[in-house]
Amino acid sequence: MPKVACPDCDRNIAVHELEARTVAQTSGFNTNYRCPFCRADFEDIGDNLV
Ligand SMILES: [Zn+2]
Repeated sequence: MPKVACPDCDRNIAVHELEARTVAQTSGFNTNYRCPFCRADFEDIGDNLV
């Protein structure tokens, strides 16, 4: 089961527990993720996979 480390609270979050939000930007669509523990938003989970 892949997990990511939250850059804000350093907890490990299972990918399916992340809240994914797709937002429209000028350059296209971007997917943001939200930590269920501290509610921090982060954009790229690729660098935080553990
Ligand atoms: Zn967090």
